[in-house]
Amino acid sequence: MSKRFDLTGKVVLVTGASSGLGVHFARTLAEEGAAVAIAARRADRLAALKAELEAAGARVAAVELDVQSPESIAAAFDAVEKALGPVDIVVNNAGISIVKPALDMPVEDWDAVVSTNLRGAWLVAQTAAKRWMAARRPGNIVNIASILGLRTIGQVAPYNASKAGLIHLTRALGMEWARHDIRVNAICPGYIETEMNSDFWKTPAGQRLIDRIPQRRIGKPENLDGALLLLASDAGSFMTGSVLTVDGGHTVNSL
Ligand code: NDP
Repeated sequence: MSKRFDLTGKVVLVTGASSGLGVHFARTLAEEGAAVAIAARRADRLAALKAELEAAGARVAAVELDVQSPESIAAAFDAVEKALGPVDIVVNNAGISIVKPALDMPVEDWDAVVSTNLRGAWLVAQTAAKRWMAARRPGNIVNIASILGLRTIGQVAPYNASKAGLIHLTRALGMEWARHDIRVNAICPGYIETEMNSDFWKTPAGQRLIDRIPQRRIGKPENLDGALLLLASDAGSFMTGSVLTVDGGHTVNSL
């Protein structure tokens, strides 16, 4: 990788780093020289990743974080600052989905999804931005949205809505905070194989879905590296309010 994507000296906070894409993002950012703060609710899982990244030579802080709680977010930023110094870059990756028909979706399930994927991302972004502005430091936020914020599938209405909201929030914050030298961009991954869904892609339903993707394959976490490093590094310094789709052509297929 060229030095254009170098993150040496930067402190990156990755939310939802206890499984799936968050783990991969933390590894990728650490490989580019960043000190990484890995955050999620399951502290036991974070400890294992911290040990792995430290063994590879990275500076790492593992912090317990519930993005639904403003107090937890403030405490996490304090803990990261103490361990690694001020956060330079936030990757808003924490997210959940609950699968139920919209008619049967209890309000608690709606609230859990929207409060994690949209309100949580906003609270983390706002906390970071307040600290950057107070310290007169530049900042950089990468929101992990989804192609389901651009198109819909059934039975995940709050997920669809929260990701569409996160995409538009990205544009709104990018516009409001540009004058403070804070960039806000988003990545919309298509279907990416992670430990949670790998069995599904082998089923007939999974295969039918793959057949609708122009590249005829599911993405791998490393397929997001280019977009992540472009937005996280100074290579993307003239980008804010941008939304990058990384989906093997899924969203351009109208079938
Ligand atoms: P995982 O379920 O593997 O990871 C989700 C992460 O979010 C976990 O680390 C979880 O940690 C964390 N999380 C959930 N709720 C909270 C919370 N309240 N506070 C803090 N952390 C929380 O899913 P993926 O890795 O697949 O997804 C990661 C992101 O990528 C999500 O935003 C998802 O919507 C998005 N995405 C994924 C795609 C895919 O195909 N995999 C496609 C498009 C988008 P813990 O439970 O320990 O708190």
